[in-house]
Amino acid sequence: MIDGALLPFWLIALLWVGYGTLGFYFLFSRNLARKRRLLRPYVLGSGVLFLAVLIAMGFPPLMLLVALPFVVLVTFLNLRRGLRFCEQCGSTVWSIVPFMKPRHCSHCGAPLTTPAA
Ligand SMILES: [Zn+2]
Repeated sequence: MIDGALLPFWLIALLWVGYGTLGFYFLFSRNLARKRRLLRPYVLGSGVLFLAVLIAMGFPPLMLLVALPFVVLVTFLNLRRGLRFCEQCGSTVWSIVPFMKPRHCSHCGAPLTTPAA
């Protein structure tokens, strides 16, 4: 256990990996309405959980203040730039080019116009 840590590392890692595993739902589900409804809380929850992990691991407050803008930026990018849901087939599409929005569905070829969340 790290000095100042609030929880044992194995529990923190288990929580983080478990939450990440939940994200596979967005990859494999074709239920567009449910994915749109759940993506925003999931991404916001991941940002909050990441900060909670840092706190639980015993990071000092100054490091948390340094990490906070990056967590906010990554959360924004995940919500607005990261991925899209295809209106036609319901699949999840993301661009492999950083900071580029996917323009077409890689499964059916339909144009992607609206952000995922
Ligand atoms: Zn499609």
